[in-house]
Amino acid sequence: MNERDSEQVAQMLVARGHVLTSQEEEADVVLLNTCSVRDLAEQKALGKMGMLGSLSRQRPIVFGFLGCMAQSRGESLLRSAPHLNLVVGTQKFHRVADYVDQALAHQAERRQNFGETSMSSVESFSRTDDLRFSIVDIDDEAGSQNSIRDHSLTSTQVTSFVSIMQGCNMHCTFCIVPYTRGAERSRPIPEIVEEVRWLVSRGVKEVTLLGQIVNLYGRHEFPKQEDKSPFVQLLEAVHGIAGVERIRFTSPHPIGFRRDLIEAFKRLPKLVEHIHLPLQSGSNQVLKRMHRTYTSEKYLALVDSIRGRCPEMAITTDIIVGFPGETEEDYLQTRQLVDQVGFDNAFVFKYSTRKNTPAAEMVDQVPEPVKEERNHDLLNVVNSWAKRRGEAFVGRETEILCEGPSKTNPDRLMGRTRGNKIVVFEGSERHLGQLLPVRINRSTGYTLYGDPAIFS
Ligand code: SAH
Repeated sequence: MNERDSEQVAQMLVARGHVLTSQEEEADVVLLNTCSVRDLAEQKALGKMGMLGSLSRQRPIVFGFLGCMAQSRGESLLRSAPHLNLVVGTQKFHRVADYVDQALAHQAERRQNFGETSMSSVESFSRTDDLRFSIVDIDDEAGSQNSIRDHSLTSTQVTSFVSIMQGCNMHCTFCIVPYTRGAERSRPIPEIVEEVRWLVSRGVKEVTLLGQIVNLYGRHEFPKQEDKSPFVQLLEAVHGIAGVERIRFTSPHPIGFRRDLIEAFKRLPKLVEHIHLPLQSGSNQVLKRMHRTYTSEKYLALVDSIRGRCPEMAITTDIIVGFPGETEEDYLQTRQLVDQVGFDNAFVFKYSTRKNTPAAEMVDQVPEPVKEERNHDLLNVVNSWAKRRGEAFVGRETEILCEGPSKTNPDRLMGRTRGNKIVVFEGSERHLGQLLPVRINRSTGYTLYGDPAIFS
């Protein structure tokens, strides 16, 4: 979701004549879009902004923090970095280009007042706190969910994210998202369809629909029709667009994952066989304290019902270890459930205390070394299942969408299976952006290696 929000901001800046650079040393504007889900992400962003300060000693640069940490820390961030100019929250991404232009205009004006860019004037410009230009905008804005709709695609891009809603009303007790991204609100289906049509006209073949609880899309805004939730109606509408080859979505919640959605996988062939279904814990006591409102039995029953209708389904998940009060017994229940489901992959997180969330106030916080140990132990289970799931592809032919050069070896190409497994293969330019069958020769667990099965 952050990637998608950043793309929107970048596109708006480009539309005004700014040019993107991958070299931070040559940038006149540096914006960091931030995540607050865990403390580590915030510390990384703060550290990065601190380091970037050295650039501002050479020449004037506009610096900004955007997104979740900007939203939750607001003006106090200005004190954390003396060179910071902009703090823009999660409902104000569409305002960033205006603020950047205002900051640049202010810099230009000051430069004129100080005479040409002599070193001393630049230094006094960027360092003198009370002369610093700053804007903090973290207000709520009705309708902001409709403002994430512009894309800056590369010429060979075949996959794209599409933000269909903002915010979250679930209030899981560990989670900061409802406080940083506000209440759940959804975009109308016709606007999403129009965006996807535009993407397809530019060569995109696979879209990933994004929302905090994506299966609850539209529940406040749009009615059910013929017993189909607004989310399933949206899937049908996107499915109907000629040129869309694959549809993904992330992340759904086990609550509200109903029969109409499970059936959709059968009815809509463009909907790929992959579901990222966050579990968080396998202990009912912990789930209850997390306010996840399902039990491990219900989660398992959902997995069974999904696999009953679609045996090929790849299922991945998120798990938190070391939630306050998690006993060894609770942890072992998680371990057991993870082993029982046999996930294709899982993100395992150590619980991170988030300010002002209910879990932060709970007694029995789990010591760091215990979290560390459970994290390590659970990863072993996750890895061994990922390996088994990957090996099951060896010798088989499977369809991939070739996305471009492999990140680890640019001489090779990479694509993803419908189940979202990465396949690396020796290919040629004509494979770029194509859906093609490959034969899998080898698996390392998370990466499959293959050869194109036909030379079309
Ligand atoms: N709305 C999404 C989650 C977004 S955050 C959903 O419910 O699926 C992604 C993942 O980060 C969560 O699923 C959870 O596993 C993890 N997470 C959230 N808050 C956390 C915290 N305080 N500490 C550790 N992990 C956390």
